[in-house]
Amino acid sequence: MYACCVFLAVMPHIFGKPGVFMKTISLIGSTGSIGKQTLDVCRKHNIKVRALAACRNTELLEKQAREFSPEYVCVYSESCFSDMRSRLADTGITVLCGMEGLCQIASIKDVDLFVNSVVGMVGLLPTLTAIENGVDIALANKETLVAGGKLVMAAAAEKGVKIYPIDSEHSAIFQCLQGNDPKQVNKIILTASGGPFFGKKKSELENVTVEQALNHPNWSMGSKITIDSATLMNKGLEFIEAKWLFGVSPSDIEIVVNRESVLHSAIEFDDYSVIAQMGVPDMKIPIQYALLYPQRVSCDVKRLSLTDYGTLTFAKPDYETFDCLSSCIEAIKRGGAYPCIANAVNEEAVMLFLEGKIPFLEIGRLVKGSLGYFRDMPSECYEDIKKAELAAREYVHEKVKV
Ligand code: MG
Repeated sequence: MYACCVFLAVMPHIFGKPGVFMKTISLIGSTGSIGKQTLDVCRKHNIKVRALAACRNTELLEKQAREFSPEYVCVYSESCFSDMRSRLADTGITVLCGMEGLCQIASIKDVDLFVNSVVGMVGLLPTLTAIENGVDIALANKETLVAGGKLVMAAAAEKGVKIYPIDSEHSAIFQCLQGNDPKQVNKIILTASGGPFFGKKKSELENVTVEQALNHPNWSMGSKITIDSATLMNKGLEFIEAKWLFGVSPSDIEIVVNRESVLHSAIEFDDYSVIAQMGVPDMKIPIQYALLYPQRVSCDVKRLSLTDYGTLTFAKPDYETFDCLSSCIEAIKRGGAYPCIANAVNEEAVMLFLEGKIPFLEIGRLVKGSLGYFRDMPSECYEDIKKAELAAREYVHEKVKV
């Protein structure tokens, strides 16, 4: 036994840096921004990838499959299935398809982590499937917790499944909690960049173009989340996500704008001491922390120089201008299916905006309007949530009629 322990202790020195962690993951959403950076972390730290999934980018998915040699590859879009299968015909890789395929990947038990980095509510069922199978999760898909937070957290607690946040703000809060008693948290300080339209009023945002909305000052991300950052919907979703992940009430979360995106969030404890996590705005830090937790090793990012920044600025968010943010807070205060409704309305509205079919401000008007339109709906099980989601999507198409 002793010899075995000694061997394990010296193993990192024998094998050098790669291979130290011997971790294995499955990953859905591998061709998106977070997925690609997750694979960068896997490459650097020799993390084995047992399964990969993407929506429809078969070319990149094939490239990733050939590099990481997973046992399973899933393409979500059914129309891409035959293309994917023929691309990987000369490999021994099993090709899966659709929601069934995503859930098959989520149910692979002998991995250390199931990494969920898909965009949108499509991530909810795979998350629930991983929990059902007792698989720990690294979660970048915030819509999972927004739509089904109560369900997901209850199921995870029952199965003893750990959820490691990948979202930079929630990773920051999780990091600040290390070594501290969660019961002594007085307040969560959730930071926001303010997005590209910080300081603007509604009258200045009527004619915002897709290109302007996609131009985020600090973070480089996928298009859905970049629009969500411009409307501050992203911060609203994160507010709801924080409530579920850390078991606090909405009144215990304060949103603060940090324009530089250097202070990624903080906790105020009962003694009013505030502990924050800082770093350059680069998602590789929270991704690596979730994948290698609790290890901290060198990460392929620029190091933070506080003196290069010189000044960090903080401000209150503008709840009047950014309807999406105030609506999300209202939705989680009301509870039930309201967060799911707000999220689904936003998903539809963002798609319509990206297609040039509605103006920028219409996204917020639709989200806000849905809270006035819907009476509460049940949200006790997955089917309830799915029903609320569909009703919310229909509401948008009814209102917009394109
Ligand atoms: Mg975030």
